[in-house]
Amino acid sequence: MPPRYLIETYGCQMNVHDSERMAGLLEQAGYEPTHDAADADVVVINTCSVREHAEEKLYTRLGELRVLAQEHGHNPIVAVAGCVAQQEGDALLKRSPGVADVVVGTQAIKRLPMLVERAQAVRRPVVDLDPFEDVTFPLGITRRGDPVKAYVTIIEGCNEFCSFCVVPYTRGNERMRPKADILAEVRDAARTGAREVQLLGQIVNHYAAPDDPDCDFTALVEAIHEIDGIERIRFASPHPRHFSVRFLEAMRGLPKVARHLHLPVQSGSTRILKAMRRRYTRDSYLELVDRIRQLLPDVALSTDMIVGFPGETDDDFEDTLSLTRSARFHSMFSFKYSPRPNTLAEKRMRDDVAEEEKTRRIVELQALQRTIQADIHSALVGQDVQVLVDAASRRRAHELSGRTSQNTVVNFPGNPSWIGRTVTVRIERSGPHSVWGQVISPVASSGIGAP
Ligand code: SF4
Repeated sequence: MPPRYLIETYGCQMNVHDSERMAGLLEQAGYEPTHDAADADVVVINTCSVREHAEEKLYTRLGELRVLAQEHGHNPIVAVAGCVAQQEGDALLKRSPGVADVVVGTQAIKRLPMLVERAQAVRRPVVDLDPFEDVTFPLGITRRGDPVKAYVTIIEGCNEFCSFCVVPYTRGNERMRPKADILAEVRDAARTGAREVQLLGQIVNHYAAPDDPDCDFTALVEAIHEIDGIERIRFASPHPRHFSVRFLEAMRGLPKVARHLHLPVQSGSTRILKAMRRRYTRDSYLELVDRIRQLLPDVALSTDMIVGFPGETDDDFEDTLSLTRSARFHSMFSFKYSPRPNTLAEKRMRDDVAEEEKTRRIVELQALQRTIQADIHSALVGQDVQVLVDAASRRRAHELSGRTSQNTVVNFPGNPSWIGRTVTVRIERSGPHSVWGQVISPVASSGIGAP
């Protein structure tokens, strides 16, 4: 029987895509997937260290795998990948002795099958945290986990060094992927049925093709727009300071580009933004929001927000609330600040906002955001929206879900054979996180697995 692998993924879309790449590499090496650790010969835990909470999950999971080995005698090779692996390295082996066999850094995942083989042969842990400047990835290796969306990396790493962020230390310097590789991967995804492409990178709008001096992010998106079969293009995340008017103007003539921009602001206070090293102000951010709304009135904005950053006063937090009211984001990821290893904030700033105060602030911010989202969603009731169907409900039989171009989640009764189609849904009711309706007419384009 062929050996089996299980990959467990924590964190962002970039980690989800790295897991797709590792799955492809293991399958090429002869492994088959399984959903059960008790059945796996290799368990890969792909970790995230952007929040402290995500890091703790790794150690809990390693403890469970140790119990599996002690009580049931099942001892798979355990590989730890992702940002915690890169950040902790050998320290991870000391903190959880006898559990992890392979520690593979963020830039070394191409070597995973070889590292697993070496750990099996030498019977002691193998660590590879080496940086690799080469961001090419063999075409056709990635084993895509989503039948509708294809994740395609365009940039790896980040040079911004925001004072709270661990990413430049875990993912390394910014490296651009060749345009030819990106276009080949998007064509391949379209050929194998993907309808939506999601371009990934820490700062996607900083893209400059290493193999074409005339190709910036705008030109790359224009080239992807030409590819037949792809109906929708999304990207995550752009940085507010790298947004060009040229891109926004081009977007008006590119209907496949989703009418949704994720613009991480992090705080509404210029004083805190400076301490965060974000290199824009509250005013310049709100000017960008205005410009986007003038040029592209149908675009939905989402954001990331941190509360309780070192030195954040009541007035600074009030600025965050007032910016949230002005920008009226369609959605928000909000977090309580926690110091991350090696960052400027961890080394030079005191984590001086009490935990209870951070909790009070995040509860207030999230309540405000929920009200805004509920308002935005209730305005959709009675409207007909175009939805790319991407999943069947796990909880309710005969219920499907999909997203509008603005990234609103729409639930409706339907047939799983519609997954991958674009349908028109009349919205009947709304909530703060999604809306519900009825399909009034499936429109042209074949579904994934459609009869
Ligand atoms: S731009 Fe800032 S927050 Fe985003 S990945 Fe780079 S350092 Fe982190």
